[in-house]
Amino acid sequence: MLDQIKGLHHVTSLARDAKENNNFFTHKLGLRRVKKTVNFDAPDVYHLYYADEFGTPGSVMTYFPFPDAARGRPGTGEVGFTAFSVPEGTLAFWAQRLVSEGVTGLKRSELFGEQRLTFEGPDGDGFALVETRDDGRAPWTNGGVGSDEAIRGFHSVSMRLQDGGATAELLKFMNYEEIDKSGSVRRFAVKGDSNGADVIDVESLPVLGHARQGAGSVHHVAFAVENRAKQLEVRKALMETGYQVTPVIDRDYFWAIYFRTPGGVLFEVATNEPGFDRDEDTKHLGEALKLPSQHEHLRPYLESHLQPIED
Ligand code: ZN
Repeated sequence: MLDQIKGLHHVTSLARDAKENNNFFTHKLGLRRVKKTVNFDAPDVYHLYYADEFGTPGSVMTYFPFPDAARGRPGTGEVGFTAFSVPEGTLAFWAQRLVSEGVTGLKRSELFGEQRLTFEGPDGDGFALVETRDDGRAPWTNGGVGSDEAIRGFHSVSMRLQDGGATAELLKFMNYEEIDKSGSVRRFAVKGDSNGADVIDVESLPVLGHARQGAGSVHHVAFAVENRAKQLEVRKALMETGYQVTPVIDRDYFWAIYFRTPGGVLFEVATNEPGFDRDEDTKHLGEALKLPSQHEHLRPYLESHLQPIED
């Protein structure tokens, strides 16, 4: 049992337009951009991170904007919805705000007794705001949404799978327990203490076709561990269970390992250390273009070729 896992760390998705993406998260949703860097494996593309003030694990939504990406086709084997936690009684505020910002696909619903507002991201991404009681996480409030309404961090991700059974077993191995069930959706939550982003929903949809990944699709879901020692324990246990896990990769702001789950979703396990203030002051997070040392020599080219993301 992997009690080293404490909830979500980040969710990484694909987008088409970097500027539109930045506007959606920093202005419409009021999150803070905490890092502007490039995709370490494809450095001519941005890697943009949006979160709370500090980039606290459990609040970090990240994007690879590929300007020529075709839109993804929703289906199984992917994350259908990424949900953020907002205070109770705020969905009316949010519905009005998102409508006035031109956000599409708004729909109110209830799941497991919680009020949800689902809506689309700039590339048709599936998002939800979920009213949560007593979420103690401090919000970023300099993004135009006040502390009474602002996003607290992730509430959950919801995976659409042809058969959720094997992934459910994996989640149990990863320190999640099944806490509820509604129709074809099984809800899991981290056992014991967590960082607040502790819920995963698994929806089984046996007749729905496989998703095709593209702009608006989630690329992977990352789970949080405190440090590198705990990450190595998780890696060893997963490999002993038969999973093919990558070596530990330095992502500058965290250390990462990746593995493919039975339902098709790519999982990552990421460390809370060293964090997003390792190369810039907390006051100025996300402002300058930051490059990892292996790509620093590309700076002149990247600074002239990457699309500016602010007006
Ligand atoms: Zn990642």
